[in-house]
Amino acid sequence: MEKEGCIFCKIIEKKNPSKIVFENGEIVAFDDIRPQAPVHIMVIPKYHIEKVSDLTDENISLIGRLVLVAKNIAKEKGIQESGYRIVINCNKDAGQEVYHLHLHLLGGRKFVWPPG
Ligand code: 5GP
Ligand code: ZN
Repeated sequence: MEKEGCIFCKIIEKKNPSKIVFENGEIVAFDDIRPQAPVHIMVIPKYHIEKVSDLTDENISLIGRLVLVAKNIAKEKGIQESGYRIVINCNKDAGQEVYHLHLHLLGGRKFVWPPG
C-alpha cells in the first residue's frame, strides 16, 4: 500500500484524529480505535514502511526503538508488573489490516496462549 492512502500516515500528519500518548522525531504511539484490552496502543515509525518483512539490515534497529517506547509506555500505564503483550502482525494469515508497520502494546487483562 502506498503512503498516500495510509491511515497511519494521516494520523502522523495530524490529518486524522487520534489520542497520542507518546511522540518523538521518529515514533508516534496512540490509542487503538478498537481496543482489545484495557491498554491497547499502537507504536509506529513516522516513516512509511509496510510491514516487518520489509525491514533490512539498514533499518532493523528501528524495531528496538519501537520496543523501547512500548516498554516505557507499559511502565507509565502501570502494566509493567502485571504483564503485557507486544504483537506485530505481518500479512494476511496474521490478520494485518493496516499496512504501515506497527507494534501493538496490549495489557490490563490476562491473555491466552496460544493466541487465536
Ligand atoms: P493490524 O491488524 O494491522 O495488526 O492492526 C491494525 C490496528 O489498527 C487494529 O487494532 C485497528 O483497531 C487499528 N486501527 C485501524 N484504523 C485505525 C484508526 O483510524 N485509528 C486508530 N487509532 N486505530 C486504528
Ligand atoms: Zn503509512
